[in-house]
Amino acid sequence: MVDKYNCRFNPKEEAVLYCEKYEYGYCESCLTDRSVCSDPELYCKFRTHCIIWENCREVAKKTEAGG
Ligand SMILES: [Zn+2]
Repeated sequence: MVDKYNCRFNPKEEAVLYCEKYEYGYCESCLTDRSVCSDPELYCKFRTHCIIWENCREVAKKTEAGG
């Protein structure tokens, strides 16, 4: 069973973050990975307060700038 209180990628890990759009949980090690957002390019109404996106955004910026 999928549980938003556990990590999407590491089900044994407790989620410290939660994607409101997809209802996925993410553990601390996934957060450090900085590319866990499922749709970094897509509009997300939760983005303004999404810590997952905050991290992904930095990666996306670098990609946009051409590396
Ligand atoms: Zn994880």
